[in-house]
Amino acid sequence: MIAEVYIDIPAKPVNRPFDYRIPDNLTELVKPGVRVTVPFGRTRRLGFVTALKEKSEFKQLKGLDSVEDHVPVLTPELIELGGWLANQTLCSTVTAFQAMLPAAMKADYKKLIVIDQIERLLEEDPELAAFLQSAKQPIWSEIIKAHPEWAKRMQRAIKHGLISVQQLVKNQAKAKKAAAVTVEAPRSLLEDELNQLDKRSHRQKEVLEFLLKQPDLQHFHETIQKLVKHGLSREAIMKLAEKGLLKQGYIEQFRDPYNRPVDRTQPLALTEEQAHALEPILTAMQREEHKVFLCHGVTGSGKTEIYLQSIQRVIEQGKQAIVLVPEISLTPQMVSRFKGRFGDHVAVMHSGLSRGEKYDEWRKIREEKVQVVVGARSAVFAPFKKLGLIIIDEEHESSYKQEDMPRYHARDVAIHRAKKHHCPVVLGSATPALESFARAQKNVYTLLSLKERVNHRPLPSVHIIDLREELREGNRSVFSKELLEKIKDRLAKQEQSVLFLNRRGYSTFMMCRSCGAVVKCPHCDISLTYHRAQQLLKCHYCGYEQAVPAACPNCSSDAMRFFGTGTQKVEAELNRLIPEARVIRMDVDTTRKKGSHEKLLRRFGKEEADILLGTQMIAKGLDFPKVTLVGVLAADSLLHLPDFRASEKTFQLLTQVSGRAGRHALPGEVVIQSYAPDHYAVTDAAHHDYGAFYQQEMLLRKRAGYPPFYYLVLISLSHPEPAKAAESAERIASILRRKLSHTSQIYGPVVPSVAKIKDRYRYQCMVKYKREPELMPVLHQIMQHFQDSGKAQLQLTVDLNPVTLM
Ligand code: ADP
Ligand code: ZN
Ligand code: ZN
Repeated sequence: MIAEVYIDIPAKPVNRPFDYRIPDNLTELVKPGVRVTVPFGRTRRLGFVTALKEKSEFKQLKGLDSVEDHVPVLTPELIELGGWLANQTLCSTVTAFQAMLPAAMKADYKKLIVIDQIERLLEEDPELAAFLQSAKQPIWSEIIKAHPEWAKRMQRAIKHGLISVQQLVKNQAKAKKAAAVTVEAPRSLLEDELNQLDKRSHRQKEVLEFLLKQPDLQHFHETIQKLVKHGLSREAIMKLAEKGLLKQGYIEQFRDPYNRPVDRTQPLALTEEQAHALEPILTAMQREEHKVFLCHGVTGSGKTEIYLQSIQRVIEQGKQAIVLVPEISLTPQMVSRFKGRFGDHVAVMHSGLSRGEKYDEWRKIREEKVQVVVGARSAVFAPFKKLGLIIIDEEHESSYKQEDMPRYHARDVAIHRAKKHHCPVVLGSATPALESFARAQKNVYTLLSLKERVNHRPLPSVHIIDLREELREGNRSVFSKELLEKIKDRLAKQEQSVLFLNRRGYSTFMMCRSCGAVVKCPHCDISLTYHRAQQLLKCHYCGYEQAVPAACPNCSSDAMRFFGTGTQKVEAELNRLIPEARVIRMDVDTTRKKGSHEKLLRRFGKEEADILLGTQMIAKGLDFPKVTLVGVLAADSLLHLPDFRASEKTFQLLTQVSGRAGRHALPGEVVIQSYAPDHYAVTDAAHHDYGAFYQQEMLLRKRAGYPPFYYLVLISLSHPEPAKAAESAERIASILRRKLSHTSQIYGPVVPSVAKIKDRYRYQCMVKYKREPELMPVLHQIMQHFQDSGKAQLQLTVDLNPVTLM
């Protein structure tokens, strides 16, 4: 038999399988979906078997070395999915496979040093020879670490043919094992032993008595650790094992990252709106019909309860469900809502877990020990075999798009998988992505609307503060008078406030503090970005640039400022203005340590602070009854990002942030400070009016030719030499112009906002298209061409439907 193997060579994607002969002793083990180690060129690599066959067109096939998995790690469906993903995102198939598996499954390549000519080596370099002879497994990197100066000597020895380097492939995926015992002897023998033991052996007696009380002695299998916890003696257990009454072995254990008690919850009686939304989902599941639902519900409308009750049905059907949640919303609070309802049926996957923990959660899924996985983006690849439902909460979140290879969007993968499984997908959001809502308008998706909060709690009232006005009145603080008043008022009432400061460090735009005007590109309607090195304002879309203006082009005031304030500065000001307030600051600095995020939130929940000040990480999922005031310090910092989605992101963020107030008995209030108080993204968010925002934004997108009216492709490249980078970028742009139809527009090449990264010069080209049958073939051609022509220095990425254009 012959195996088709995709080989792990990330540097130079080889997008086809290689044929390998399966040695007789491995035939039983090699199945599609297992990982194998194979000889490749002069090295050994890990590979994925995707198919078996009887014949190969090649003669003289090499044989497989070994098989890494007892059970295939890729199901047939995932093998197909990998091929699809590779094609869709222009990456190699093996990269796609790796993206679907926990990181622990990645091969760890080590270079093993082998002595070829010991006599000559002893002669030439006795010290090295002695060292290599004494080492059990001399690994190149480990030797270099201990003796950096030996690198040259080893290289010389390699050159002279005295030693050589062999690739070792280490499988990092290891289940945690715990020492355990089983009972080897029949009950009668244990009883005999019990009677024979003398008084001094009372510890062994205890063990035997304990065992004889077990109902199913023959199948008794327990970790020694647990028995010791019961008060039994480890030594006594070992003695009985020596006597052959017990047998030592291992139990594979699952590391449990959420090892904490969770109160069980029962399904709630649904509101009328919830019941209306749930019904069509259940019907689709019943009929095994693939459908995409867009569940558009205001914050607090009870979308999660709908998710929970549909999952319940999935479990009753004997099927499985995937729930995707944005990484930053995947808080213990969120997880416990699912664990509370479904207990041990839930696996959790997110980046906070250690490699081993992730691997264990993944194994629970593969071994069908759980029916539900709650996780961030990559959980969409959970190896369930009978998917009954995929839920994507906060479906508009840009984190669902992976920013490196493979550049997939979890929504697309979910829909692709759900089609194969004939099951529904539920997309949920208070502020759906424009693309999704447009699809629902066209009946590609089925819209489910929840217009009211559960129990008719009112949405918070929102006040917009005009920061230009504040400045005119001489207030240069980041706090308007009104916001400061309200914070003090909450302090007096012993209620809590959340203050939100959006900060995306790298992009600075220029704004007039008198009139709020932002310097924009005359061609693209996108704010210009300040490039400090050249003292220029540049457009990241078309390349337009201009000098930094001395006065406002709109009102001639000289109050032009670069925008951007940090949380630390705000905290200091808060301390100065309201010294008695207890503030918790949450940003990348204060949450770097594992678990600190959670700790800070817990402290705030226990009312150990009056004010929670933070960046986007506090925008979501927080649900504290005492929070009655939410302040957005500067709505503008997002509004003027050089991104055509800037308004959409602002609207989403303001809506999310506002949703944090007044979720419980106490009514909530929101203060939004802005230099653009009349901007529709700000006013529509203040009025909780998604519909109005959608109308307005669609109009602008249509006019400017952006999604959802057009699709985008972003082609980025980088090269250490600026001239070579420019030349290649020109070449690509000209290929695109020549080969794509006239209905597509090609922009660039332009230098992106970050013009150089790690000494590599960057260029970008953008394609806007509606229908372009030639697109994928041309993109594949470009990738192939630039990879094959030995331009190792050139890095090229193609991003279809990019979420950021930086
Ligand atoms: P969303 O996800 O739409 O923002 P949640 O699912 O968080 O809303 O629901 C908001 C609150 O309402 C939660 O505390 C939830 O427990 C509660 N809730 C949801 N559905 C019901 C219901 N049918 N009856 C009573 N309380 C409910
Ligand atoms: Zn001005
Ligand atoms: Zn421009």
